[in-house]
Amino acid sequence: MEANLLQTKIGFLKGVGPKRAELLQKELNVYTYQDMLNQFPFRYIDRSQIQKVAYINDDTVYYQLIGTISNLKMIGAPRPTRATAVFSDDSGSIELVWFRGLKWLKDKFKIGTKYVLFGKASEFNHTYNFVHPEIEPYDPNDPLIGEGLQGVYFTTEKLKDNGLGTRTIAKMQKLILQQVFDVIYETLPQSIIQQESLIPRKYAYYQIHLPANNIEIQQAMRRLKYEEHFFFQLKMLRNKKRREMSTRGHVFATVGDYFNEFYSHHLPFPLTNAQKRVIKEIRKDLGSGHQMNRLLQGDVGSGKTIVALMVMLLALDNGFQACLMAPTEILATQHFATLQEQLEGMNINYALLTGSTKIGERRKIYAGLADGSIQLVVGTHALIESKVVFKNLGLAIIDEQHRFGVEQRSKFWEKTEIPPHTLVMTATPIPRTLAMTQYGDLDVSKIDELPPGRKPVKTYHLYQDDRYRIMCFMKQQIAEGRQIYVVYPCIKESEKTDMIALQAGYEALLADFPEPQYKLCVCHGQLSAEDKDWEMQRFISKNAQIMVATTVIEVGVNVPNASVMVIENANRFGLSQLHQLRGRVGRGADQSYCILVTDHKLTADGKKRMETMVNSNDGFEIAEVDLELRGPGETGGTRQSGQIEMMIGDLQKDGALIQQTRAMAIRLLDADPKLALPENRLLREHYKELFAQTFDWSQIG
Ligand code: ADP
Ligand code: MG
Repeated sequence: MEANLLQTKIGFLKGVGPKRAELLQKELNVYTYQDMLNQFPFRYIDRSQIQKVAYINDDTVYYQLIGTISNLKMIGAPRPTRATAVFSDDSGSIELVWFRGLKWLKDKFKIGTKYVLFGKASEFNHTYNFVHPEIEPYDPNDPLIGEGLQGVYFTTEKLKDNGLGTRTIAKMQKLILQQVFDVIYETLPQSIIQQESLIPRKYAYYQIHLPANNIEIQQAMRRLKYEEHFFFQLKMLRNKKRREMSTRGHVFATVGDYFNEFYSHHLPFPLTNAQKRVIKEIRKDLGSGHQMNRLLQGDVGSGKTIVALMVMLLALDNGFQACLMAPTEILATQHFATLQEQLEGMNINYALLTGSTKIGERRKIYAGLADGSIQLVVGTHALIESKVVFKNLGLAIIDEQHRFGVEQRSKFWEKTEIPPHTLVMTATPIPRTLAMTQYGDLDVSKIDELPPGRKPVKTYHLYQDDRYRIMCFMKQQIAEGRQIYVVYPCIKESEKTDMIALQAGYEALLADFPEPQYKLCVCHGQLSAEDKDWEMQRFISKNAQIMVATTVIEVGVNVPNASVMVIENANRFGLSQLHQLRGRVGRGADQSYCILVTDHKLTADGKKRMETMVNSNDGFEIAEVDLELRGPGETGGTRQSGQIEMMIGDLQKDGALIQQTRAMAIRLLDADPKLALPENRLLREHYKELFAQTFDWSQIG
């Protein structure tokens, strides 16, 4: 088919050649003409204008100049580290500077030849210069000069060093479009194009790269975004449907003794209505005959653990094994302790499996899981190692999903012939549009109610120089029998300066809170699992009043007597992390407090985060602000679990369009579930091509 022209290797394009082709592959993942066309401009500039050197006065805009180059100098002997030259037109001269590719510069410029320079000027010592500008010999017939709007493309230093700056890329796009315009095929049915007033696909590609005006850009963007979101939604919905139709699931038909006994005699508190509703939703899935894939969202402290426990009992009632996987050892250990407490007196065989489980014990657990004598297991990643074999795993619960990747979820699938039901629990509220995209193939349950009697945590933003006040407050709380967390940011636990800050903070606290009256414990990622556990236990058993820690305590830790959370350098945390940390307090009946400590210098963004925390206790509201401030990349595990890379779509900004495309995709699938109708042929082919190589979500959830 002619469309194969689009699959032409980029190396065949005039002026590219093998070396540049390889670079384009490496740096931009561009292999073919089609790939290149999918590199969209991120903004546009007016290239019809040629400016003059004398009028350069702004370091934020691009300049296009025509002039000559002289005085090329290598600076630094014997090995130059920098080169400079002078660029002149009839209005004046300006310095050019290079730090790389110096060897190559030497024979690049000819005296007297006219060049086109393109780039942003930098302000330096009260004057301007150009660092690594794009420069080409001036060609009066250059197709880009005088063209009107020209796209600015993403490029890298390596590409630029090899002459592949945004200007060259723009030229390549034009060349490609001239060759392939006629074979850019339509992917959407005519009916959708009409209903949604979209422009044809080939025009969209032309206009996005070579727009005549802003209206053309808007039309092109809308069409391309629509297409991208539409196919993505289609994929999600199809995965979901396929799973519902075909993935056979264990049927948990009975509610048996374990569940009933627990419900009547062991339930430590009445369930909230939200907890009851969620358990009902889950039970329905478990009886359906299809595999459950459910996301359970519930703000910190909303009581997800008890739901997990009761659902696991249902698995046991039906003769299956169940497991609960947590992202950290501390959390797994704590879940295990909760089980011990709540299952006391029930005849259930359960175990804890983590990285630090001793060999002998570990062997016993492996054997027990394989022969089915261990009914329930709690653990960390250790649960998904290949050595772990279950006799009949019926249910896998994964706590705090955002710490795990999709692949880890899928590991459980390999363990049994019929995949276990899966419940993913997360305290990171996922804003609506993100939920629709990232988790579009999962069913979602929400615990939207906190257990009764909870007082919202009071949050304050204080400064480093309020330290005395903070100390007095801490002493007063300790005198009332409360416990306190002091948390330091350790972005990477290996980061030396962060560890020094924690150490210094710890020592300062020791001076303010001397033994034997006070006892402190400390917990961070560099401690061995045993030491961490020991320190944690001292806190849980109230043998220490202050826990100095890094974010290892962020996830799930439950010490209801702790009522104060002091977060040092709070501006270094993102909103969702701050909310998670704050969730460690306010778990008991006492009034709890969260104190955010920063210095007076704060970015606008940092200020907004502090304000949001002080004003809101609502995880969903906070997640929306977070999304606004940071974009979707950082929220709730997009990076690890979603791997959604949009070419032009924007998960943050395209909310309305996402909903529109989802609705359209639903309508289309209702009418033609298999995409078999003739009018959907183009769509089906494009769909196949798009998703042929990508990870198939239907395999994993
Ligand atoms: P999360 O959803 O953050 O995992 P947990 O399951 O750890 O929350 O529950 C937080 C605390 O609330 C625990 O101490 C738990 O025992 C308690 N809790 C959970 N559900 C209820 C309830 N319905 N009534 C009272 N306390 C509850
Ligand atoms: Mg939890």
